[in-house]
Amino acid sequence: MAEFDVDLFVIGGGSGGVRAARIAAGHGARVMIAEEYRMGGTCVIRGCVPKKLFVIGSHVRHEIEDAAGFGWTIPSMSFDWATLIANKDKEIARLEAAYTTNVEKSGAQIVKSRAVIEDKHTVRLLENDRKITARYILIATGGAPNHGASIPGIEHVISSNEAFHLKTLPKRIVIQGGGYIALEFAGIFAGYGSDVTVIYRGDNILRGFDEDVRTHVRSEMEKQGITILTGCTVAKVDRHGEEFTTHLSNGSSVASDQVMFAIGRHPSVANLGLEKACVAINPKNGGIAVDHFSKSSVDSIYAIGDVTHRHNLTPVAIREGHAFADTVFGKREVRVDHAYIPTAVFSQPEVGTVGLTETEARAQFSHVDIYKTTFRPIKATMSGRDTRVLMKLVVDGTSDRVLGCHIVGDAAAEITQAVAIAVKMKATKADFDATIALHPTAAEELVTMRTPTARHVRQAAE
Ligand code: FAD
Ligand code: NDP
Repeated sequence: MAEFDVDLFVIGGGSGGVRAARIAAGHGARVMIAEEYRMGGTCVIRGCVPKKLFVIGSHVRHEIEDAAGFGWTIPSMSFDWATLIANKDKEIARLEAAYTTNVEKSGAQIVKSRAVIEDKHTVRLLENDRKITARYILIATGGAPNHGASIPGIEHVISSNEAFHLKTLPKRIVIQGGGYIALEFAGIFAGYGSDVTVIYRGDNILRGFDEDVRTHVRSEMEKQGITILTGCTVAKVDRHGEEFTTHLSNGSSVASDQVMFAIGRHPSVANLGLEKACVAINPKNGGIAVDHFSKSSVDSIYAIGDVTHRHNLTPVAIREGHAFADTVFGKREVRVDHAYIPTAVFSQPEVGTVGLTETEARAQFSHVDIYKTTFRPIKATMSGRDTRVLMKLVVDGTSDRVLGCHIVGDAAAEITQAVAIAVKMKATKADFDATIALHPTAAEELVTMRTPTARHVRQAAE
């Protein structure tokens, strides 16, 4: 009789857990994977995918508005939120089924239940109180939205989870937060016709991104009519029937039909039984503490993806899950390289970024050259839209290596994915220059910026 019921028990059927389960099963492991909600996890069910579908749909407004300059007359424009939601739900259900089928095809067994850890080799399924022993346990439970400090009226506030299932499109919405989700939903709702107010506690949105990106995105969003109030927080939300008054810390208030918080996410570590198996938490970020191979403080327990709160992005969770399965079951040690991860904010306009910001580069390198341009995209010359694109390269002035690339504008994410290969390969500015432009594109600016717009030389300490 086998020593354990299974070789691997995966807790969480999201991006990382599913990849780990499939690859481990492919390596011959006996795998069981528990999911308490819907297979596919955050990205598929209430994250990247439905969000991107919403973004694509809301962008149609811009296309229609821009069409007139190209000779189109579109008599009347109307939008039906219920159709959007129904079609999105259909697509998400299709994807959920595909995830389920793919896991089953790999040979892994799915259990629809919450699972908690009993000890370093045992999990308990809450659905039927069954205990399963496993040689290895992989925690891939992801994360959940923060609600912040409890303010009066917090029960009226929705998160991104609920935003995907609203019965009607709010005419007016207040969104607190200045990061990925707040700005993506600000663009989504504005595109569909809502009046959007963003409330951000700091002096400018997208903290951590390049300063030029922050300024540019804010100005472009404001040009589209999105109100961005900085230096304040939501202090209280009052409900009057179907309407809300959001009271701000600066004494002002905003009326709306929905109030949403997008103020970060926390790793799902609560009530998982971590303490029973002595799995340590990383005191710096509240996620499960892991080494370079995603191993926790307990030899038989690993953790990947958002629950480790490292880089909370789907491709990272997938890569970590794959590396775990190869390392533990594939007889091949794989360590995920977290440097130069490209990322995009699907705000409108979009942000694409890879590598160091100017501030980071100047802190790490003695000589930093900046190549920056803002320009009117060709489409705007005929549509008449008041918009500009930003492209910026951050270069090590000593080695000529391109350290960072930052883009704001249409297709920024698509361009950044390709540029990220060059940046990851340590391409130099000379390599960019040696590449012939592809004309007429916006991205050609990346290979035609000849002269630095700024050169920073750090003075030696006296
Ligand atoms: P998850 O995908 O969250 O999966 C964890 C799963 O575990 C969940 O299904 C959960 O139900 C289940 N679970 C939790 N506890 C238990 C338990 N005890 N027992 C059984 N099951 C359990 N990333 C991008 O790269 N690009 C994007 O455009 C993007 N957009 C996003 C938009 C939104 C609105 C949000 C919220 C996130 C977005 N992300 C995006 C982030 C991305 O969704 C996550 O980084 C990714 O899903 C993490 O994968 P994971 O496997 O770690 O966790
Ligand atoms: P972010 O960390 O991106 O942004 C959180 C925002 O909320 C920040 O502006 C932050 O301000 C603010 N904030 C935090 N705490 C409070 C508070 N108590 N009161 C008021 N404001 C507060 O988190 P999101 O929720 O937007 O998204 C979570 C993560 O999901 C992202 O970091 C990303 O990893 C992932 N994601 C990725 C996407 C993509 O790849 N396109 C899309 C959506 C999510 P401050 O900056 O001052 O701390």
